Amino acid sequence: MVLKNIEELKLYLNTQRNIIIIGHRNPDGDAIGSTLGLKYYLDKKGHNVQVMMPNDYPDFLKWLKGSEDILLFDRDNQKCLDTINSSDIIFLLDFNALHRLGDDMKIVLEKYEKDFVLIDHHQQPDEFKYMYSDTAMCSTCQMVYHFIEMLEDVELIDKTIATSLYTGIMTDTGSFAFRSTTSKTHRVVAELIDKGAENDRIHSNTFNMNSVGTLHLLGQALNNLKVLPEYHTAFITLSQEEKERYNCQKGDTTGIVNYALSVKDVYFAVIFIQEQDMIKISFRSLGKFSVNQFARNHFEGGGHDNASGGKSLLSMEETIDKFIRLLPQYKLELEKSYEV
Ligand code: 5GP
Ligand code: MN
Repeated sequence: MVLKNIEELKLYLNTQRNIIIIGHRNPDGDAIGSTLGLKYYLDKKGHNVQVMMPNDYPDFLKWLKGSEDILLFDRDNQKCLDTINSSDIIFLLDFNALHRLGDDMKIVLEKYEKDFVLIDHHQQPDEFKYMYSDTAMCSTCQMVYHFIEMLEDVELIDKTIATSLYTGIMTDTGSFAFRSTTSKTHRVVAELIDKGAENDRIHSNTFNMNSVGTLHLLGQALNNLKVLPEYHTAFITLSQEEKERYNCQKGDTTGIVNYALSVKDVYFAVIFIQEQDMIKISFRSLGKFSVNQFARNHFEGGGHDNASGGKSLLSMEETIDKFIRLLPQYKLELEKSYEV
């Protein structure tokens, strides 16, 4: 864990500030939940706070209060630039380096002359003036809860803040199922429920939002599932043509990779999704096999030990071929990944 200049930050926040809070490109539940949760806390402390994302996020997160006020850098560009220019400090949540914002936003923020605060659980974070980094944490939302604790303001957490933070903890832990979920996570979640988070509604608002098309897309993805038993590996592909056939929208492919991981004796699951200009890849593992290292070493990505992402500029066929050729060198590691 890295804690840098948090006491100084606490003093800095004793005066009213113009604050921007930013999440990563292609924001997920943790990025949206943590930024909104922190926003409503800092609002209560009397600051002027604006949440900003590089680009749009899935519809299943748009029920969250305040999501309609989030600025998107690619859509509301001038407004974002003006807000950045008149801000005093920027919080970076749920990502570890400015390149995770995409080139356009990265270039602007690299020129930012004031300070950044990083709150994040991804590995190998870049250096910023103020930092709270903990790769053992299940989610940035849990870290925002602990951040509020550090600032001795837990009593300020209300239903809105609790609902935002609960949402991100739920989505980043696969509804409290992944290894990163600790007893501490459950204690925090219990506190959030006591403060007004309605767990059943949050779950339903987020996950029971499928259209028939989304489920048909899932059906196609499951049909494409391939298992390589000798490597305890399963992978799924989705081509551009298949996505178009089922009218695939942003967020519709979220979580599909977990079906590959649910196959008996599979410890390494991958989904290859064809986009306009690249193949976007999600990696998941059970146990010790680090998909963060795998994504870093071979597919220009990274993330966490059990969940990471990356990309390939090759064709789908070449990408799969490259992937399968890599597996023999990991055979032993994969066999032992889930041993107790
Ligand atoms: P997902 O597969 O859900 O897109 O991402 C899983 C995890 O890996 C997330 O925590 C995400 O931040 C991280 N991740 C996804 N894509 C990339 C990437 O291209 N680079 C890095 N460094 N991390 C990624
Ligand atoms: Mn996260």
